Amino acid sequence: MCSGRVDLAHVLRAFANGIDGVFIGGCRFNECNYNTHGNYHALNMVLLAKKLLAHAGVNPERLRLEVMSGSEGNLFAEVVNDFVQKVKELGPLGEGEGISREEVRSRVAAIARLVPYIKLAKKEKLASRLEKPEEYDTFFTAEEIEKLVNEAPSYYIDPEKCQACMACARRCPAGAIAGGKNLVHVIDQERCIKCGTCLEACPPRFGAVRKITGEPVPPPLSEEKRVIVRRAKEKAGEASMPG
Ligand code: SF4
Ligand code: SF4
Repeated sequence: MCSGRVDLAHVLRAFANGIDGVFIGGCRFNECNYNTHGNYHALNMVLLAKKLLAHAGVNPERLRLEVMSGSEGNLFAEVVNDFVQKVKELGPLGEGEGISREEVRSRVAAIARLVPYIKLAKKEKLASRLEKPEEYDTFFTAEEIEKLVNEAPSYYIDPEKCQACMACARRCPAGAIAGGKNLVHVIDQERCIKCGTCLEACPPRFGAVRKITGEPVPPPLSEEKRVIVRRAKEKAGEASMPG
């Protein structure tokens, strides 16, 4: 696949699925056939992915980007063989790191769920052009990645404010909001990709969606407590009661 089309989510998903190594081949810089020069973006994405993998405890050498021209078949064979040898030396995913494979997969999967938020937070850096290889190592720092991951926001629907208008559930791209007519809506934190769309979608007169950073998300309401009894209906019910 053209390196310019490789996405951060694809790379992390491969590791979350237990792949031992990912190799991305691209055209040489400034030789891209498209004026988008996607290989610069691919480079930034790989540098970011390497730091995210290291944050998850995965050896970043399991991911490699190499650029070459279409006529360099020998070079391609050489770098692929070298990469395969490297991955063999590292051993199966997790084994070389001293962490169980399942633990590695779950850590990477948790980071993969943050990809929309990470891409938004690092939009400018991802779009920049690195011309000097000496800039690669310091382009994303371990501290920066730690802050990015630790300060990732969560979204929560305040049950006291939700009016079950369904606007958030309709627009959630991850299908992470459980809703329904007259039911307080609830966000499934495992499925949420932290895009923030629900915060924008909730009408200001309700203001039921909260962005939470640095503190735990309150537990979701139990099913039976989610039913919203409208005040007008409550009053009508009271009026029809004998006595
Ligand atoms: S932030 Fe909101 S809209 Fe985005 S995935 Fe999470 S619940 Fe859905
Ligand atoms: S948009 Fe706001 S009020 Fe409407 S269902 Fe979602 S959280 Fe509730």
